[in-house]
Amino acid sequence: MLKSFALSTLMVLGAASGALAQSDYPTQPITVVVPFSAGGPTDTVARLVAQVMSKELGQQVLIQNVGGAGGTLGAGQVANATNDGYTLLLHHIGMSTAPTLYRNLAFDPLTDFTPVGLITSVPMTIVARKDFEPTDMASLTTYLKANGQDVTYANAGIGSASHLCGMLLQDSLEVQMITVPYQGAGPAMTDIVGGQVDLICDQTTNTTNQIKAGEVKAYAVTSPARVDSLPDLPTTAEANLPRLEIGVWHGLYGPKDMDPAIVAKLEAALQTALQDPTVIQRFAELGTAPVPLDQATPQALTEELKGQIELWKPIIEEAGVYAD
Ligand code: ASP
Repeated sequence: MLKSFALSTLMVLGAASGALAQSDYPTQPITVVVPFSAGGPTDTVARLVAQVMSKELGQQVLIQNVGGAGGTLGAGQVANATNDGYTLLLHHIGMSTAPTLYRNLAFDPLTDFTPVGLITSVPMTIVARKDFEPTDMASLTTYLKANGQDVTYANAGIGSASHLCGMLLQDSLEVQMITVPYQGAGPAMTDIVGGQVDLICDQTTNTTNQIKAGEVKAYAVTSPARVDSLPDLPTTAEANLPRLEIGVWHGLYGPKDMDPAIVAKLEAALQTALQDPTVIQRFAELGTAPVPLDQATPQALTEELKGQIELWKPIIEEAGVYAD
């Protein structure tokens, strides 16, 4: 009797302190893990959004860059983190390709995370060091068909967006380039600008400034329509590569089984960030836009993730690319 009274008292106290924790949340800084290097496109999106979320939540939202293995190291870290809302993950399309690409993936994107919402979908651009010989997409195609085996292609590891785009490019042209892997597309772009590596396909959020400054040579954009911020760049479909269409969607997650009240606060803060004029303007300058607000929700992110896992599975299987 005493024991059950004590137990139920503890349960009531526990529930009360849980409720208090939810209503007080957040009471300390929040860490958002970006599973790629600082200075790259995922990092850029995360820092823009985190600034507004931080104001909205009244606590610092800090970015932690955990690059490696195409984003699976950082994602794995968050899958194993405490689900108190203080450790989150901002990842991209790689969440949906990792289950097919990685034979020994340490997490399940659909069951080991709590989705918060979609953020944006970013087109990709095919760019090269500025003194790379081909001048347009047609001459790039001819050049790669003849010399592809000698061309160095930078990517951010297996399952990164730059890897997927490179895989589709090589597949479409039936060529095999030399892959140079990085922990993120930030350092990869530094080496493209420096001329140490020939080619990359990466998000406009990482290439627009360099294209506009003439630091790289740009060939095509992977969206169905041209991008306003880079109007002279043809689409891959215009350049006769219709299979090379890819939009890099980004989402915010926490570890699995997060408190719904905490998720609701994060969802609201994310939606505020996506309506912020500075975020909208910077996104536009970098060739993208926030998703409509009804997609910045846990349900929409879950649907996108499920759909994209199904979409990429046969493409990856056909390409026969796997990692351990
Ligand atoms: N966007 C890069 C990629 O997936 C990674 C990064 O954000 O640095 O290729």
